[in-house]
Amino acid sequence: MNCRSRSACGSWRRSELSERYCKPPLSNARKSMKLGFEESQTAYTNGSQKARDLTERWFHAWGYCPNCGDPKIVRFPNNSPVADFFCNTCKEEYELKSKKGKLSNRIADGAFKTKCERLAASNNPSLVVLNYDLNNLSVVNLLVVPKHFFVRDIIEERKPLAPTARRANWVGSNILLNQVPASGKIHIVRGGILRPKELVLAEWKRTLFLRQENLEARGWIIEVMKCVEAIGKQEFQLDDVYAYEAKLSGIYPRNQNVKPKIRQQLQFLRDKGYLDFVGRGTYRLRSQD
Ligand SMILES: [Zn+2]
Repeated sequence: MNCRSRSACGSWRRSELSERYCKPPLSNARKSMKLGFEESQTAYTNGSQKARDLTERWFHAWGYCPNCGDPKIVRFPNNSPVADFFCNTCKEEYELKSKKGKLSNRIADGAFKTKCERLAASNNPSLVVLNYDLNNLSVVNLLVVPKHFFVRDIIEERKPLAPTARRANWVGSNILLNQVPASGKIHIVRGGILRPKELVLAEWKRTLFLRQENLEARGWIIEVMKCVEAIGKQEFQLDDVYAYEAKLSGIYPRNQNVKPKIRQQLQFLRDKGYLDFVGRGTYRLRSQD
């Protein structure tokens, strides 16, 4: 069971949409991404249908693949079970969630059980969050969470729908963006400003090493990445990371060797070029510039 029903989970219902999409603009027009929507292109008058139509059209027309840089993103046929778009070149799949107004840390997503089951799947889609201003009909933020950042902790179980609901007792999910490290939230557009494509592609590549790891290993690495980010310094000490021992013990209560586990993750992140060891107990995050 997938979640494509607005009434069920707050996202927009796929079956309500038609196939009336325009061809994307010519590749030379893509050189300057346009952040405004073409309101005249939509036939919908219902607010949520119109918003979904406009945002999907916009992403189809202007979005590019952050994995390989291909300027063309292809739509799956409506009612595809999980993803919305894919890249013909590298086959990366994307799920698009759009949100008007302020960008929140909770993004309503599909059925909780399905989201959890798909965590380890190789074709689990990466998440694209498109945040827009309904008054200006323009994109404010466009960010991508690569699929390798999807671990159990970022999926929140929602309360079952009421027995009287059309999809009685259906359980949806929320994606918790505040549980994703900053390096896993790659902005293509931030605050209404388009970021350089080269930077987006470099940020994507920077954490691709996570894809080689299984779900459990990724969980530990991502938690340590979050601790390192929380320190808030490019150069930091091992003790700075050890300060999060209690927090990590809370997440992994069965692990009795949290400090060695921390060192192991830091060594792994060094081996993958995410950070450097610069002296006894001193580490430095690699600059992306
Ligand atoms: Zn691609």
